[in-house]
Amino acid sequence: QEYNREGYAPLYDSFEGFYLRYVYRRVRDCWNRPICSVPGATVTLKDRITKDYGWTFQFTGTTTECINLGSYNYLGFAESDGKCADQSIETLKKFGCANCSTRLELGNIPIHEELEQLTARFLGVEDAIVFGMGFATNALNLPSLLSKGCLVLSDEKNHASLILGLRLSGATVRVFEHNNMKHLENSLKTAIVFGQPLTGEPWKKIVIVVEGVYSMEGSIVHLPEILALKKKYKAYVYLDEAHSTGALGKHGRGVCDYYGIDSRDIDILMGTFTKSFGSAGGYIAGTKTLINHLRIHSHAHTYAAAMSPPIAQQIITSMKIIAGEDGTDEGRKRTKQLARNTRYFRRKLNQIGVIIYGNEDSPVVPMLVYLFSKIGAVVRTLTTHNIASVGVGFPATPLMEGRIRFCLSAAHTKQQLDYVLSHIEKLADSLGLRYSRKVRDPA
Ligand code: PMP
Repeated sequence: QEYNREGYAPLYDSFEGFYLRYVYRRVRDCWNRPICSVPGATVTLKDRITKDYGWTFQFTGTTTECINLGSYNYLGFAESDGKCADQSIETLKKFGCANCSTRLELGNIPIHEELEQLTARFLGVEDAIVFGMGFATNALNLPSLLSKGCLVLSDEKNHASLILGLRLSGATVRVFEHNNMKHLENSLKTAIVFGQPLTGEPWKKIVIVVEGVYSMEGSIVHLPEILALKKKYKAYVYLDEAHSTGALGKHGRGVCDYYGIDSRDIDILMGTFTKSFGSAGGYIAGTKTLINHLRIHSHAHTYAAAMSPPIAQQIITSMKIIAGEDGTDEGRKRTKQLARNTRYFRRKLNQIGVIIYGNEDSPVVPMLVYLFSKIGAVVRTLTTHNIASVGVGFPATPLMEGRIRFCLSAAHTKQQLDYVLSHIEKLADSLGLRYSRKVRDPA
């Protein structure tokens, strides 16, 4: 252990120092670009120039309007005008920005209760509880459901919030290969035959933790198979629908809707409002007894400030539209348009010959560029052509599986997608991204 001159141990480990000094500094213009508009079908970036060899930035005073394939605005509810915005402004005027209290104290407003009932109805379950932050919904609720002596079988691609929640819970966690049902079944068999290590006692409970759509892979969970295993081995299922609620299924009700599964078969349904609903926060839905347990035991409910009123209103308005409870077919149109855009974009990328991951119905489309050095090059080039995208590399992906992640939206027009595709095609040639031969368009 090294100490500095004043006797302090280092605050950062050396990898972080290396990362900041040699890597991040050179590609900083590709991430953290401040935006100065709604993250809709287009987004406006504030232009900056780097100074001091990349250590600092200076705004130039100009902006760049880009077609936005970087935000999780799946259904196009990130809007600053229209019904959602109007109702949120009304709520803001009535209740203010914040409740300055937890729900248990003086922060509970009728809007929270309305949102919980609506969420339960939307998902087709008995009850739901909402929280101010999606990340905390996972990180702080898993510990109130699990403890030492419980076993969790967790998909290897699970989100950081799930991993943190599992660590905090004290449960034993065994990771299974991404979407590999054989591996999951073997882990279940082993868990039941051998029980807890050393004592051999049976596990208090076994919980399978998975996501609906995986945010870095674009893959969809094999839910029917998981449900069969759950029933066979008497395990529980915790399903994170952050990227699937609103975005998947005929009625936009998520991955259960997509597979035609009764959502009451899932023990714990979790989701966020940050994507399809254009808002913030998260929910857990399920039986009344589960939700009552969380109302007492969840740190995210008991010790955290209540969800901001206009944020809750935005979710209510958008969820009613998706569910058709507003008396129009606008929600249906949006879910259909998202599905159409997704399939079109994926099909065209396949024809260009770049490698993309995930399911054909997943609006998250990761395009593989492999080398870390190519991530910055692609993001930068696309930005110069007025296209906003997200580059993802190590440690969020394996070191040699750098990728550009495109998120589709119902708000994108065909012309916008064609413009983006034409630039990806050019890039595929100049940066050698074409890993398979160009396929002829059958259409
Ligand atoms: N779960 C998953 C699967 C996610 O991808 C995310 C974030 N994108 C979260 C939870 C955390 O949600 P939020 O960003 O709404 O806090």
